[in-house]
Amino acid sequence: MPEVRLIDLHKEYPGVIAVKNVSITFTTATVTCLLGPSGCGKTTMMRIIAGLETPTAGDVFFDDDRITELPTRKRRIGMVFQYPVVYRGISVYRNIELPLLEEKLSAAERKKRIQQVIDILGLEDSVDKEISQLDGGTRQKVAIARTVARQPAVILFDEPITSVDAEAKVQLKRALKELTRQLRQTIIYVTHDQTEAMTLADQIALMKAGEIVQLDSPRTLYNLPNDVFGGWFLGNPGMNFFEYRVETLDSDSLLKSPLFPRDLKISGLNGQDRITIGIRPEHVTLACKPSDLAVAGNVRRKFIAVGGHYLVSVELGDKIIKVKVDPVLGRQIENEVWVECPLDWITLFGPDGRRLKAELSLV
Ligand code: ATP
Repeated sequence: MPEVRLIDLHKEYPGVIAVKNVSITFTTATVTCLLGPSGCGKTTMMRIIAGLETPTAGDVFFDDDRITELPTRKRRIGMVFQYPVVYRGISVYRNIELPLLEEKLSAAERKKRIQQVIDILGLEDSVDKEISQLDGGTRQKVAIARTVARQPAVILFDEPITSVDAEAKVQLKRALKELTRQLRQTIIYVTHDQTEAMTLADQIALMKAGEIVQLDSPRTLYNLPNDVFGGWFLGNPGMNFFEYRVETLDSDSLLKSPLFPRDLKISGLNGQDRITIGIRPEHVTLACKPSDLAVAGNVRRKFIAVGGHYLVSVELGDKIIKVKVDPVLGRQIENEVWVECPLDWITLFGPDGRRLKAELSLV
């Protein structure tokens, strides 16, 4: 399985820069999700890797081989699209077998590979069925099985579960997780759905306007976004942001804010006086009783969010902060609450939106 490297990859269409000087390595045996909003360049990048588009500048390498101009059929790429590519009128088994007949395989090896993908994807009950007898999710499993059984060097998934219904989505996600765990292949997976990326990826490349904003493990990307965009795009809802101008004293800075019971000392800003404080709604602590590190606030709105959690908007001085709490506490909360923003969960960003490395303490 090769490592895939993009070096200074750039793609322009008339009037649009789809991919902007991107360099990234897709490590062998790793699932990388390209995650970002519609139009950020995910599909274009993937099509260039597949050889379906030519870059305006830059190169694609599979290990040490420069394959920028190599035709798709010579790249040993497997692709799974949003809509399943399967043949009607023949059985599931035959659908998986057909592409393998083009490979030089013994009958025993062919059978073994088909059985392996059937097992992993849970297709046992469907092997003899004809494609039109299957629901959308199972059809997509067959399309995935067809691709995977060929054992391509790199597998590209382009939003493969976007078009199936909610129940099938859960099943397909589980099957894909199992597949990627067992195969350990180089997999590049395009999605605009953060939950999908968080579940499946070893690393996520978060994209915005043709650029990769951050490449990290799902956990790091979520907890430590390098950019305001990551704080906003990930999470449901995303981070709370509060912009401030801080007072600089010698090497440290001081901030008075209704978010904290005492002044906040910030060390390491290096003269930077405009900052944005970011904190995720689930990292803010809410209580019905006062405590040392909490400030008093008034509940403005509360409603039940996905998963039974409550999303509460609390007024703190001239600010409104969103807080996510568990169902038990959510039900108890009335008008007056106590809010703590734990310093360990605060991320600071500069005026350019990039994360600042600074130390925080309450004085
Ligand atoms: P989506 O999830 O909506 O497919 P995406 O992140 O995959 O979005 P791309 O499809 O790669 O984004 O598109 C990136 C930009 O390039 C968009 O502004 C799009 O309109 C533009 N674009 C893509 N393909 C073409 C094309 N063939 N001709 C002109 N512009 C294109």
